[in-house]
Amino acid sequence: MRLPEDFTFSQSMLQDFTDCPRRFELRYLLDARWPAQETAQALLYEAGQQKGQEFHHLAHQHALGVPADVLTETIADDDLKIWWTRYLTWQAANLPAERFPELTLTVPLADSLLMAKYDVVAKLADGSFLIVDWKTGRPQKRLRLADRMQTLVYPVVLARGGDWLNDGQPIAPERIRLAYWFAETGETVDFELTAEKLRKDEARLTSLLQSIAASTEFAKTENERHCCFCPYRSLCERGELPGNLDELDEEDGPDGLSLDLDEIEEISF
Ligand code: SF4
Repeated sequence: MRLPEDFTFSQSMLQDFTDCPRRFELRYLLDARWPAQETAQALLYEAGQQKGQEFHHLAHQHALGVPADVLTETIADDDLKIWWTRYLTWQAANLPAERFPELTLTVPLADSLLMAKYDVVAKLADGSFLIVDWKTGRPQKRLRLADRMQTLVYPVVLARGGDWLNDGQPIAPERIRLAYWFAETGETVDFELTAEKLRKDEARLTSLLQSIAASTEFAKTENERHCCFCPYRSLCERGELPGNLDELDEEDGPDGLSLDLDEIEEISF
């Protein structure tokens, strides 16, 4: 199947292809709607998603200049209040007042387009750039995050497409850092970019994009753990019942389960 001419890849799409080529095909090429419960605790999951979205909305408004105390007044949920307090402390110490929230950059790569939608990009006083991704799901280990497509895509796209944030000059890779901030702990897991890492990550992404563009068949994953929380389970005959959040281990879950707002928006049915 040929990709549409204006097809734009995102980190979620690449992650889906990496986890399961068939899911990529169903979701993005066939636009298959196959509503299914993604977890056994649908209400709990939905409530978590809702809170995650509210948190992102608060952080966005704050970055746009709405005073923190005005926003604090609007928060009723106890968990959200705790997250918000942690956020206020962390951002005051780590982010400049001027920051770019909900920034989307798209760059050409391997005859395709690659997009990154950032929660925040900030230029720090020393001239370096910090990408922040707010995570309101359970904290994830560095090893797992290091292997996620998001960790590759976000710095590469900023390095190749962030000139306009840097007075028209390319941003040197050594001046780019990605921080995943976890609302549950108020701590970050950071990834620095280097010229060597940029070269390797770009080569890996190029190879992946070329391989997707050349694909004519999209096989189901052999790792059935990916199926537990996938909405296409019954379509693929990989089980009717959704996975149980309590049994989720870090390896299993799609990022949607960590309530990543970018992904919720990108893959929302
Ligand atoms: S159910 Fe499994 S095989 Fe089917 S699309 Fe989802 S992850 Fe892939």
